[in-house]
Amino acid sequence: MKQAKGINTICTHVGEVTDEQFKGAISPLYMSTSYAFDDVAIKRYPRYFNTPNQEALCKKIAALEHAESALIFSSGMAAISHALMAFLQAGDHIVLQQTLYGGTYNFVVTQLEKYGITYSFTKGWKATDFAQEIRPNTKVVYLETPSNPLLTITDMEAVAQLAKKHGLVTMIDNTFASPVNQNPIDFGIDIVIHSATKYMGGHSDICAGAVASTKINMKRIWDSSICFGGSLSDQTVWLLERSLKTMGLRVRAQNNNAQQMADYLNSNADVDTVYYPGLTSHPDHELAKRQMHGFGGMLSFELKEQLDASQFMKSLNLIKASMSLAGVESTVLSPVKTSHSLMSEADRKMQGIKDGLIRFSVGIEEVEDLVLDIEQALAKVKSKAIPI
Ligand SMILES: *Cc1c(COP(=O)(O)O)cnc(C)c1O
Repeated sequence: MKQAKGINTICTHVGEVTDEQFKGAISPLYMSTSYAFDDVAIKRYPRYFNTPNQEALCKKIAALEHAESALIFSSGMAAISHALMAFLQAGDHIVLQQTLYGGTYNFVVTQLEKYGITYSFTKGWKATDFAQEIRPNTKVVYLETPSNPLLTITDMEAVAQLAKKHGLVTMIDNTFASPVNQNPIDFGIDIVIHSATKYMGGHSDICAGAVASTKINMKRIWDSSICFGGSLSDQTVWLLERSLKTMGLRVRAQNNNAQQMADYLNSNADVDTVYYPGLTSHPDHELAKRQMHGFGGMLSFELKEQLDASQFMKSLNLIKASMSLAGVESTVLSPVKTSHSLMSEADRKMQGIKDGLIRFSVGIEEVEDLVLDIEQALAKVKSKAIPI
């Protein structure tokens, strides 16, 4: 679908509840769980995803993802699980990209089997890796790009074409990129999923999810989702609308900061490797340039071997260690100790996730202050390092 308006215009204006009564500047919040209905009524009810605030915000999210339609959920995992369960049934098989958000991985390996659904993980992230796993009963292909934590880039167009050839539905977790940096539907991906807890919310104070696709696909997801019941409270819907107004500004500032931090870390003698699609040294930099509008606010890096990564993270003052990501504040995390701790050492090794890897969610602070914080932490760690 052709994008009618620019990103910041969509963020600010599309999908508002007009305040007819008082002509207020922002959407009024309707907390009613009960609505009178006329003879040819639309039954309005929160779990039906159609309260005034939900309906309006769905329009904004659909516009952001160049989709016909969208739904908002109570969490990213609600969005992911509801979308998957709408397209899978007993006897079906799903192919998922090997590098996957931990919660999604957990959902797949602990839940699908009891519904009679089988799954395979790809060995890499190339379209040929996906092709290898397709079986006669495969129904869905699921991908994530850029991936967590090594920021690998999957060729969305190639995977979408492969799936179309086999008549499969493609789903992507677009959380890391955000709609500001990547619109998978333009590359032929069918269903786009977000943890709105991250860049859409952006202030580390909202837990929500979203799915965007064609009207037909969203009707199918709606049909089963009203049974599962994963809708979002209108209060949070309203807060998410407010957050989305500044998403374009926030994410573009984070793109800028992340690029500068990646360049700085890349030229720092105490840093070994930096993983960021915006670096020309990234193996898929050209692909990222082709399919992304910006390289995002997430990067990962490793310190030189003799420097203790966990001591380094503890020594940071401004940048906080945190499980979550994508807030306006910068945070770091050790994937081995947190998000990927349940994965076996062998699997981590296979994926290239080293013990000292640090994932960095770059915020909107001044780059100079972030650099100073890293410098002082490095100085502390180096004073304790054992020379090799
Ligand atoms: C956080 C996250 C999720 C899950 O979202 P919740 O809102 O925590 O349920 C899914 N995918 C990615 C990439 C995430 O970062």
